[in-house]
Amino acid sequence: MTVQLEDVTVHFGNKHSGRTCALEGFDLSVAAGETVALLGPSGSGKSTALKAVAGFVRPTRGRIRLAGNDVTDLPPAKRGIGVVVQQYALFPHLRVADNVAFGLKAAHKSKAEVTRRVAEMLEMVGMTPYARRFPRELSGGQQQRVAIARALAIQPPVLLLDEPLAALDAQLRADMLGELQKLRREVPDIAIVYVTHDQSEALALADRIAVMRDARLVDIAPATELYAAP
Ligand code: ADP
Ligand code: ADP
Repeated sequence: MTVQLEDVTVHFGNKHSGRTCALEGFDLSVAAGETVALLGPSGSGKSTALKAVAGFVRPTRGRIRLAGNDVTDLPPAKRGIGVVVQQYALFPHLRVADNVAFGLKAAHKSKAEVTRRVAEMLEMVGMTPYARRFPRELSGGQQQRVAIARALAIQPPVLLLDEPLAALDAQLRADMLGELQKLRREVPDIAIVYVTHDQSEALALADRIAVMRDARLVDIAPATELYAAP
């Protein structure tokens, strides 16, 4: 499913609190099967672009399209996409397994399918022993792994990841990067938007890298061209 941001501008605040231009005239099209990394320093507008696609922030101007359909006015839950952002917390009252099962149940999958899929996802992120725990009983990194499992459980056609490896230690980061590469091979049509400030992560995962600075896209090119050895 193609993801398109068309001339998206996002302003926060008002004339009393002061206005921040978080994103300015942002254009990006991510094809089905493609992974694009948004790379740039803190505050450059990466998360805002991703949240606009997810539906967590409303563009001041511009449109969001999924598979060509204008979804700018749809609430997040109606967009049918997988999201891992820091603020999209796990449901605190649900155990780990129920968090992962949530989207599957909402999609009316059979009990057997839900059970199988949850087990598979927990295994993938190494969280099987924690299936019965509540989110508050987990470390930040463990919660992040469950959030990834929850997002992937529904096999979304579009996956939005905001610094998904940030809370993980080096070994786990390498493992999860491997899992994401595997996901790309196994779900060849998935479109992924991957926010990071880590160039090596972007290079390892992305087909193209969109470089952001001061609320704008300043460069976009295949990973190999942007960071080719001189
Ligand atoms: P990045 O993801 O690149 O770190 P963000 O998209 O989070 O950048 O932020 C871009 C700019 O918008 C920053 O100046 C940030 O402070 C501001 N911003 C982000 N979210 C909000 C918000 N909800 N209210 C006000 N300002 C915000
Ligand atoms: P901030 O805290 O800076 O306002 P957040 O990134 O926490 O920004 O969230 C941006 C907006 O998206 C908020 O209005 C928040 O309530 C909403 N939001 C965050 N997560 C979800 C979610 N899982 N479902 C629906 N809305 C969400």
